[in-house]
Amino acid sequence: MVIGIDLGGTKIEGIALDGGVEIARLRVSTPRGDYDATLGAVVRLVRTLEERAGAGGAVGVGIPGTVSPGTGLVKNANSVCLIGRPLKADLERLLDRPVRIANDANCFAVSEAADGAGAGAAVVFGVIVGTGTGAGIVVRGEVLTGPNGIAGEWGHNPLPSPTDEERPGPRCYCGRFGCIETFLSGPGMQADYERATGRRATAVEIVSAASAGDREAAATLERYESRMARALAAIINVLDPDVIVLGGGMSNIERLYANVPALWAPHVFASSAGSEFVRTRLARARHGDASGVRGAAWLWVDAVR
Ligand SMILES: [Zn+2]
Repeated sequence: MVIGIDLGGTKIEGIALDGGVEIARLRVSTPRGDYDATLGAVVRLVRTLEERAGAGGAVGVGIPGTVSPGTGLVKNANSVCLIGRPLKADLERLLDRPVRIANDANCFAVSEAADGAGAGAAVVFGVIVGTGTGAGIVVRGEVLTGPNGIAGEWGHNPLPSPTDEERPGPRCYCGRFGCIETFLSGPGMQADYERATGRRATAVEIVSAASAGDREAAATLERYESRMARALAAIINVLDPDVIVLGGGMSNIERLYANVPALWAPHVFASSAGSEFVRTRLARARHGDASGVRGAAWLWVDAVR
């Protein structure tokens, strides 16, 4: 049995998996801004899952950030109480066992590669597009990490092939302008619609207005699809993945799966004659919101295989 923990900013979710089958799942609120209380909540969640499952297991944890390979401390986390903390060492001490920690987008990619929309594919690029953008890369079942702990983080690259209207682009919280995230996140779509129309609407409202025939909303979606196609074509040119799996709130936009691959072909090297020459698939996540917590458990897949 393996245990996965998805340590988010507002909730902590835990799951016990046995051979990929869920045998227990629990969710609690994250103690806001309190590191020690957060550690305690994770430990209690693990203990409760073990009681319900009737067995112990290795623990994997997904976090909204990364553990710096250099220092072992958490960095780039939007749950700021984790930043600079030795989370892995602390949890290993409290749980008395080795713990694996990975970025939550990496966990998503691991889950979808293991038994989700990327099952059986050699190279999987897993993307979360929701309030922000994150991504992870899994090659033959193994998540890629690197010396900076940022493999897959393409959301803070500039949008490729920008039009004049897209330059320099919106300011991003990371300090740059025109990051992919400022266009492809849910708030990015909302901001684009507001710039074009002067009106406010949520991404869900924009999508439903577009399908009801609203031309301005449809134009917002067309710009969004073009931007996603360019952003993902750059990934195809570098990584050449078998499948790109979309998760997060924006992955619920059904038309993306037909329209984006039709638009990315001209931006993919050596694909001049149409989308059939690009064999990369764009697929919707199979496990939805559960991918993060499942992927955290799958961090131990090599140990239990
Ligand atoms: Zn940025």
